[in-house]
Amino acid sequence: MSKKSFQNRIAFGVWLNDFRSTPILDDTWPSVLIDQQIISDFQKTMDFLKKAGYTDIDLFGLLTNRDWPLDIESVLTIERKNQVDHLIHIIQSSDLQLIYGLGVYSWGFDTIIQNNPEVRGTNSSALCGSQGKSQELMEKVIDFIGRNFAVDGYHLEAADQGRCRCEKCIQEGDVDYYNRLNRQTAAYIRNRWPGKKLLVNTSGYLPWGDWMNEAERRSVLDLGKNIDIFIDGGNHGQFIHENDRAVFIDRLPCDYGTSGGFWIYPPQRFDRNRWFLPYILRSTTHLRNLYRDGSRSCELYLGPLINPSTEMNIFCLGRFLQDVDQNPLDIIEEGVEELYHIKDPAQRSNFVELFHNAESAFFNNWSPHRLTNIPEFYSDGIDSLFQWSKLHRDRAIPGELFLDSLTGQYPPFPVYLTVHLDKERRESYQRELMDLLPLVKSLLKVNGGNHHKIETIHLCIQNTIQDIEMVKNLQELNQ
Ligand SMILES: [Zn+2]
Repeated sequence: MSKKSFQNRIAFGVWLNDFRSTPILDDTWPSVLIDQQIISDFQKTMDFLKKAGYTDIDLFGLLTNRDWPLDIESVLTIERKNQVDHLIHIIQSSDLQLIYGLGVYSWGFDTIIQNNPEVRGTNSSALCGSQGKSQELMEKVIDFIGRNFAVDGYHLEAADQGRCRCEKCIQEGDVDYYNRLNRQTAAYIRNRWPGKKLLVNTSGYLPWGDWMNEAERRSVLDLGKNIDIFIDGGNHGQFIHENDRAVFIDRLPCDYGTSGGFWIYPPQRFDRNRWFLPYILRSTTHLRNLYRDGSRSCELYLGPLINPSTEMNIFCLGRFLQDVDQNPLDIIEEGVEELYHIKDPAQRSNFVELFHNAESAFFNNWSPHRLTNIPEFYSDGIDSLFQWSKLHRDRAIPGELFLDSLTGQYPPFPVYLTVHLDKERRESYQRELMDLLPLVKSLLKVNGGNHHKIETIHLCIQNTIQDIEMVKNLQELNQ
C-alpha cells in the first residue's frame, strides 16, 4: 500500500536569520543580515531539512524586509548579489526548492509609500489596491527578482500588515480584496514564468478568531484556479472551520494546507538554550486530521536547530509528513538514533520518554487562551500588531507561540511564561520540568552517543526552570 504522504513538505524560514544558531540583539526585527554565521547555519539547516524529508524552503528577507528602494534595483550591491546567489546555491544543491517570500502590496514598500503619493492610501506599510501604479510597482519587483535569481516559486503574502482602506478600496471586503491582489500578482508571475510554484498564505486575512463565510470561501475557490497551494496558516486558528474543511478541500482547485497546528515563532533575540518545548504529538495529531480531510501540502515553521527541542520537532514532523500512519513515538526514536547516535534500545526509549514528557509538561499546564492584564513589558507585544475578532476573541488560539516579544524590548523576556501561564500553571510546569531532571541526568551517564547534545538538553531545561523562578519573583505578575 502506498504511503500517506504530503507532496509539498515546505519548511517555512520564516526570515533569513530565523534559524540562526546565535541570537541577534542589535538589529531590529526582522533582520536581513547575511554574514558568515548565517551562511554556515544555512548549510547545516538545508542538509538537515533534506535528511528530514522536506521538499522546499520558503524564505523571506533575501533582498529586503520593509524597504525596496525607489528604483528597486539598487537594493542589490554586488556583494549582496553574490551572497544571495550563494545561499540559493546551498538550498538547491541540497535538492530543495526555494520559494521566495514575496510581500504582495506590503512587506517591502514602506519607503516607497512614504515618497510616492501615487501608490499611497491609508496604510503606511501597504500600497493602495486601487491605483494602477501600485500594480506596476508590484510587477517591477517581480521582474527584478525573476531576472536576477533562480527561485523555484513564490509565497504571496498580501494581508499580514493590513490593507488600504481608502474610499475606493474599502468597497471590497477583506477576503475579496486580498484575494484580488494575490490573484493578479499570481497571474502576472504565471504568465511570465509558467513553471513557478505559487503559494498564498492567509496571515491577516481576517481578524484572529474569525472563520470565512460561504461568500468568502467562494472567493478563495476562485483564487485557487491561479495558484498551486493555499496555506490557511492558523497563526491563531484557521480561517476555514475544521467542520467545513474536507468539503472545502474537495471543492478547491489547488492544494490546501496549514502551518501544522502549533509552532514556536522563531525568536530573533532569545538565547537558543532558553527553552525546551517539543510539540511532536500535538502537531502530528493535527497533520493526520488534515491529511484525512484531503490536504497534501503544508508549511512548517523552522527555528534554530541548535535548540534540541526545535531540532527534534523539525526532524519528526518532516518524517511524519512522508507517511501520516507512522506512530510519532517511533519517529522520535528514529530521531534519537540519527541525531544522538544512541544504539541501545532501552536508552532510546528513555529519550523518547523525555521528549514526550517535556511536551506534556507544557501542554498539561498552558492556557491556550491568552491571559489578560499582563503588563505590556512582560507580554508578547502582538496584541497591537494584529486584528482580533471582536465577537470571538477567545477562539484565537495559537498557532504561533512567541517566546519573547517579537519586535521587542531589551532584554529578551520569556513572555510565553506569562501570556499563557498564570502563577499556578507556571508552578506546575516548573514541577513537571524538575521531574525530568533525573531522567536527563541518567542519560548523561550513557556511554557513546552525542554527549554534548544531551548536556544542551539539560541546560535548556535548567534555564527554563530558572526563567520560571525569575517570573515567580516579579511581584506584578504574581498578585
Ligand atoms: Zn486604496
